[in-house]
Amino acid sequence: RLNSMTVDGLKPGTTYVFRVRAHTDGGYGTYGGEIELETSHEDMLAIGDPNQPTILAVSIAGGIVLLIFLVACFVISGRHCGYIKAKQDPDEEKMHFQHGRVKLPGSRTYVHPHTYEDPNQAIRDFAKEIDASSIRIERVIGAGEFGEVCSGRLKLPSKREICVAIKSLKAGYSEKQRRDFLSEASIMGQFDHPNIIRLEGVVTKCKLVMIITEFMENGSLDSFLRKHDGQFTMIQLVGMLRGIASGMKYLSDMNYVHRDLAARNILVNSNLVCKVSDFGLSRVLEDDPEAAYTTRGGKIPIRWTAPEAIAYRKFTSASDVWSYGIVMWEVVSFGERPYWEMSNQDVIKAIDEGYRLPAPMDCPLVLHQLMLDCWEKARSDRPKFGQIVNILDKLIRNPSSLKQLTQSSAWQDANAQDCLTVATLEEWLDAIKMGQYKENFSAAGYVTLESLIYVNGSELNKIGITLPGHQKRILSSVQNFQTHGAHLQV
Ligand code: AMP
Repeated sequence: RLNSMTVDGLKPGTTYVFRVRAHTDGGYGTYGGEIELETSHEDMLAIGDPNQPTILAVSIAGGIVLLIFLVACFVISGRHCGYIKAKQDPDEEKMHFQHGRVKLPGSRTYVHPHTYEDPNQAIRDFAKEIDASSIRIERVIGAGEFGEVCSGRLKLPSKREICVAIKSLKAGYSEKQRRDFLSEASIMGQFDHPNIIRLEGVVTKCKLVMIITEFMENGSLDSFLRKHDGQFTMIQLVGMLRGIASGMKYLSDMNYVHRDLAARNILVNSNLVCKVSDFGLSRVLEDDPEAAYTTRGGKIPIRWTAPEAIAYRKFTSASDVWSYGIVMWEVVSFGERPYWEMSNQDVIKAIDEGYRLPAPMDCPLVLHQLMLDCWEKARSDRPKFGQIVNILDKLIRNPSSLKQLTQSSAWQDANAQDCLTVATLEEWLDAIKMGQYKENFSAAGYVTLESLIYVNGSELNKIGITLPGHQKRILSSVQNFQTHGAHLQV
């Protein structure tokens, strides 16, 4: 087993892009993410021990025999050759040398298939070619954008037979349709996570073009929930949401922005495991500034999309977090349509004016609070997917935290006065809907309202209140408290 590679003859002050894949008797594996390295401006590349020859050490989990395959992409005077690297977020990851050592990224980065000059190469790199004779189509289960979706079975040599979903491209397709259709497979094939739909492979060698994925017995989450209205416990719902958040954390760690996260694009298997799906490119609006509002109807899913993504196409993991909040609302309301029958234009206007979806029936306060956090206007104030996973994990470990339900709207109206008098720190936290942090404060020795004068951002971090939206709410209320005393404006 080889897990290091010496690369010599490199030019100083030059960026190289490496990709690694395993080679076993079974053939080639898929490529890992790109590793971008810049040689130092001195005349020797200093990676690893500076006294050693140049060594690129790559850790491989579970590899057997490894062949390091290098695609050296010389980036000379800013120009890539071979293929271009594309990142959805250009601010991210470029590796830096630290005292002669290279920092390998903690995770892989997603490669957009359009960055390949030859899209068929992306398919070869990221998807396994399956022989059509190993597939048995059984029945039609749905309609996709490009053709039918069927269920069936896949039997690969020396593997047990499994149930699969088979998406096929309808006959008479154009070359562009074939490319767009298969782009979903070259995206999906880069992911490997229990909450992301798994690609088994593709059939491209014959006229019939197919994408084969794992089969999800319960179909899409929205219709599944509507069919089972009221039949799941809150813990089960939170478990589903936890899975979706975990899949989304994985995608955002890979710098992949989904843009169309909605319950209809989540699939559910027989164990109630939810998996993110729908990675097609064709619906992603690249060049049409009108598409959000007009004729191309439904191209930007307005109800699920963050305001900055609707207004100026700022799609980021933070806009995916907004959509995730809408998915939370869909799940807790068992598949209700967000904003009911309001028109898209009315939704856009209402959101701009500060309106947010109210808690669904029987919704735990903490969950609605988390939704509202996902719908913060400023995207940097929204939680990250990693934080959402942690919050949901805590709720699952401590189900009593789900007991406190959002109050009826009558209660909310009664309390929606400008001024509220609070006498204790607990009352204050409840009043600003931050009751979940009572323990954080008391454990840190904050007992009285007066002690709050010492609270600031770094103090909140220290006591474990890290969500930017929550910090903002607490700090602005503290400030208000300092000016108005026990008369707290909420
Ligand atoms: P899509 O084109 O991915 O939106 O798929 C269309 C419909 O086919 C979905 O809404 C699902 O009902 C069904 N479907 C797609 N993929 C699967 C799968 N892996 N397992 C079960 N049903 C699926």
